[in-house]
Amino acid sequence: MIARCPDVILVGIPFDENSSFLRGAAQAPSKIREALHSSSANLSTEFGRDLGAEPRFRDAGDLSLPSGAVAFAAIEQGVAELLENGDRMVALGGDHAITYPIIRAFAKRYDRLSVLHLDAHPDLYDEFDGNRLSHACPFARIMEEGLIGQLVQMGIRTMTPEQKAQAERFGVEVVTAVQWTNEIGAKFGGPMYLSLDLDVLDPAFAPGLSHHEPGGVSVRDVLSAVQSIRAPLIGADIVEYNPVRDVNGVTAMVAAKCLKEVVDRMLSAAGQ
Ligand code: MN
Ligand code: MN
Repeated sequence: MIARCPDVILVGIPFDENSSFLRGAAQAPSKIREALHSSSANLSTEFGRDLGAEPRFRDAGDLSLPSGAVAFAAIEQGVAELLENGDRMVALGGDHAITYPIIRAFAKRYDRLSVLHLDAHPDLYDEFDGNRLSHACPFARIMEEGLIGQLVQMGIRTMTPEQKAQAERFGVEVVTAVQWTNEIGAKFGGPMYLSLDLDVLDPAFAPGLSHHEPGGVSVRDVLSAVQSIRAPLIGADIVEYNPVRDVNGVTAMVAAKCLKEVVDRMLSAAGQ
């Protein structure tokens, strides 16, 4: 019997209560969808796959979330339900704090998940401003709970001594912005998860972000890194887009472009 090809389900997670500096990322999912479907562009990926004519790509809308710490249980539950039939999922944040409950849901289905985390920041603080669920902390929570098998962070350019100690403690492989390689995807086996914090990009390419960290990479670099993925990519998130800071919606279009190429990898034969 031939197994059914998994669908790719898009879900919005409009939650930014754990942002340490600015709110606004909760408004991102609807703005990214608008950009994705804008008549100024089309839905074809760079490999020529028309996502507009792709029955396996479905939009589940946004999760409806309560306020406060209980939102994390709701995110975990909502994602677990989307994964029930063996489908793949790409989530639109929200701030980066949402990756922790998302990964908790994935960890129930997948042993020893490999995670590629693209970000200016390692997000490994034990706590930030007294908040252990801060968007500066998700990978500390994920690693201390042993939820995944491998974490590779790339694009990092804000490492602090505390987070360096955390990276060593948890065995995180850190590839700095200086060491960036467009071929990173080729080094992963599956199943694989991609967490894309858009502030890995230079603010020149993506002004619509809460944390402008100069010295970042280009949109082309991120697309190339995504396109180098050969392992089964079973989950992804695209986080930290902040429409309040955007200029003419340019960052929404960047997020939509990244989304298209991530979905292409999830649908590809190489990724089965
Ligand atoms: Mn982050
Ligand atoms: Mn970041």
